[in-house]
Amino acid sequence: MRVLLVEDEEDFARLLARGLRESTYAVDVASDGVDALEKAAANLYDLVVLDVMLPCCSGLDVCRKLRQSGFTSPILMLTALDQPEHRVAGLDSGADDYLGKPFNFSELLARIRALLRRTPGLLAPVLTIGDLSIDTRTRGVSRSGSPVELTSKEYALLEYLARRAGEVVSREDISEHVWDETYDPFSNLIEVYIQRLRRKLGARLLHTHRGEGYRLVFEAGPAHV
Ligand code: CA
Repeated sequence: MRVLLVEDEEDFARLLARGLRESTYAVDVASDGVDALEKAAANLYDLVVLDVMLPCCSGLDVCRKLRQSGFTSPILMLTALDQPEHRVAGLDSGADDYLGKPFNFSELLARIRALLRRTPGLLAPVLTIGDLSIDTRTRGVSRSGSPVELTSKEYALLEYLARRAGEVVSREDISEHVWDETYDPFSNLIEVYIQRLRRKLGARLLHTHRGEGYRLVFEAGPAHV
């Protein structure tokens, strides 16, 4: 899942981005409202974390402009101004949730997970595809009850494909949602990660559709590999 983090305080932005990346999200950082609107127009974000206090324009304006431009992904607002009237203004500008600073990072993660679950079809915190189970709260993966150790990028790719299980997912979609703006479209990174997942999960779960993309599907059978 790819997140746009809009925060002008550099140290805080770096800290948050690092925490989110460690939690398997692909993160792009925008330092002001103009940058945020440009990035949101150019990339597909699954969620925006938006600070209200920004240098050029308020996060409330950024939020309104995003919604006016047709942006439908969840927006979580952050602010030090944690009074009821500020929360009301934030929610009325089009935000889905609101978190006052200082906050506990685990709470931020829990709210992000909750917002991402609201997307249709993603209501369950545990995704189950055949004997594959993915707990999006703990990022624990198992097959037939046996845990599978994945790196954070492997997990992010698997979760994205699992959320769209049964569909052929294009490389463009994968790069947009699982990688950040540093992704090189000419690299074979996605294929490399698919191969790693196949080695860890068995070849029959992940199918390559040449020229189209990848599909995660469970086919019952005697062996997984
Ligand atoms: Ca700020």
